[in-house]
Amino acid sequence: MSKIRCTVDQLSPLTSGVTRVLLTPEHPVPYQPGQYLQIWLSDDDKRPFSIASTPAQAQLELHIGGAVTDPYASQALAHLQQHAEITAEVGLGQAFWREDSQNPIILLAGGTGFSYVYSIAQAIAAAAVKRPVFLYWGVRDQSALYHLAELQQWADTDAHYRFIPVVQNPDTDWQGRSGLVHEAVLADFVSLEAYDIYLAGPFAMAGVVRSAFLEQGGKREQMFADAFAYI
Ligand SMILES: Cc1cc2nc3c(=O)[nH]c(=O)nc-3n(C[C@H](O)[C@H](O)[C@H](O)COP(=O)(O)OP(=O)(O)OC[C@H]3O[C@@H](n4cnc5c(N)ncnc54)[C@H](O)[C@@H]3O)c2cc1C
Repeated sequence: MSKIRCTVDQLSPLTSGVTRVLLTPEHPVPYQPGQYLQIWLSDDDKRPFSIASTPAQAQLELHIGGAVTDPYASQALAHLQQHAEITAEVGLGQAFWREDSQNPIILLAGGTGFSYVYSIAQAIAAAAVKRPVFLYWGVRDQSALYHLAELQQWADTDAHYRFIPVVQNPDTDWQGRSGLVHEAVLADFVSLEAYDIYLAGPFAMAGVVRSAFLEQGGKREQMFADAFAYI
């Protein structure tokens, strides 16, 4: 873990509720795909955000958003808007990608939990992993699928990769899966025993998923989520 000063390079909207943040650390900083950083709002107030980029990239990318009624994200964004430089602790968390495992992989994101799986998916693509990879991304409304085209292209580039977007409240023109994202996984796999499962999203989702996946054969030691440390 490294505490480091970072320049705030860019804040740009990904959707009406989610902002893409680019930071440049004052020197290259080590971390693993799937780890998070903490933005220091003050010495007593540090907010964790998954790193969407991979260590091969010079900038640290974040996707910050979520429920508008929740000040968690909006206060962090206000801090980033008001400061040209911020302090961050980088390389936190135990739910990073296990490159050496030979198990097939399920990446499960709820909302802005996508930031976490995006980092791992990019690392998987860069390493040209030849194991089945299923990326499920659940959102409340389809307008929240800000990387839809890119992920469809990612799945098209390699027969090992599948991308399954799941919309909770679909419009009538939505032709994909609907409902809660973890229920789509439960419907698609008779047993989850063989899989490494990486997941991020709201805490309530993480708790529900952990119980439901264990019941469907998932192995606790093959389920990775930093949210588990908070619930
Ligand atoms: C280590 C760590 C890293 C974090 N990283 C980020 C980050 O990078 N960006 C950020 O903005 N916040 C982050 N947070 C804060 C928190 O995780 C987010 O507030 C949360 O992911 C926001 O989700 P959402 O509002 O986008 O999802 P929502 O829009 O609430 O939900 C999206 C989907 O998740 C599923 N879901 C939601 N609730 C449930 C439920 N109760 N049961 C079953 N399924 C459910 C559904 O499929 C739903 O459509 C982080 C927190 C921690 C501890």
